[in-house]
Amino acid sequence: MTESQLTTVMEAVPEPMLHIDGQGTIQATNAAARALLGEWILGRSYAAVLRQPGLLGRIEAVQAEGQAGEARFELADSAGGIQFRVRISVLPEQGGRDRTSGARWPILLHFTDITHLREAEEMRRDFVANVSHELRTPLTAVLGFIETLRGPAKEDAAARDRFLSIMEDEARRMNRLVSDLLSLSRVEAAERMRPSDIVDLGAVLDGVIAAMRPAAEENGNTVELLRDGLARPDDDRLRALIHGDRDQLMQVFLNLTENALKYGGPNKPVTVRILREEGSASLKGPVIRVDVIDRGDGIDAQHIPRLTERFYRVDTHRSRAMGGTGLGLAIVKHIVNRHRGRLRIASEKGRGSTFSVLFPEA
Ligand code: ADP
Repeated sequence: MTESQLTTVMEAVPEPMLHIDGQGTIQATNAAARALLGEWILGRSYAAVLRQPGLLGRIEAVQAEGQAGEARFELADSAGGIQFRVRISVLPEQGGRDRTSGARWPILLHFTDITHLREAEEMRRDFVANVSHELRTPLTAVLGFIETLRGPAKEDAAARDRFLSIMEDEARRMNRLVSDLLSLSRVEAAERMRPSDIVDLGAVLDGVIAAMRPAAEENGNTVELLRDGLARPDDDRLRALIHGDRDQLMQVFLNLTENALKYGGPNKPVTVRILREEGSASLKGPVIRVDVIDRGDGIDAQHIPRLTERFYRVDTHRSRAMGGTGLGLAIVKHIVNRHRGRLRIASEKGRGSTFSVLFPEA
């Protein structure tokens, strides 16, 4: 292959590539490499450009031995650094190579951005640590009470009943956590598959309200559904149809309504409102919007962007005391993403919060 053919091939590769000759001079670059390292690098020594001992050492070795290698290269940027895996391959020399002169092999460097792989790895580690921590607390309690029931409280009927009821609560908490984890992994697995069924959101909300009403009333609360000119199942023009998965949509609005009741507090009515509107920048065309509105304490602005992270809670103690797993909104976010919808959270301290979900109309 001639130098110009090599350059043509390199330009066709979207990732950064460098051709370094036996003298260590950068002979050719592609557009991605120039964007990454600068326009000035052509004709320079690779050592002046790359400057990271790990990578320089590998290049040195490959050029001396003629065996392909791999190294890491890291570039600092405002978002906290980009990590590359660099493949170093050996080029056959034009016109043979004079082994006696100690000449070095010409090579090709190919950079692959592996930042997102690193991030995924970190997320997985954090996730395992979080799950273990969440399970350990109730497990420790259950084991402690078993011990007490076998020993000091053996003959104490009143204590036994009390301890058994605490153990039941803790076991139920673990059960909820495991079912939320399973839902989350099921939703994530299917996230790229867009649902194709046509679902009437108004009917879904009727089901949600009916399911939540008894628990709400027990706390002196009410849940009402407002249909702003929409979603009457008996009239086709007023239906709110979207492409969706009925069970998952049910889960979204059960989670949001349950949160509104939990964090809204007793005697603070919850309103669910459904309407049709014209979409805006990120979601064009006609949109069905559902607002779940509570009149609780509201959420500080700094927490809002993080609420959909797994296990993120504003007040861990309060969430746990109310049986929360910290996964409800993470599940909501994944389901909404799968439906190509949007979740918006607005809140005012002391006045309450509105969780809005927008879906493209079918
Ligand atoms: P949890 O099981 O803790 O309720 P979620 O994922 O459903 O987990 O919610 C995460 C956190 O978001 C909650 O712990 C709570 O701090 C906050 N949050 C959710 N919904 C509301 C709401 N309607 N009002 C105030 N805070 C809320």
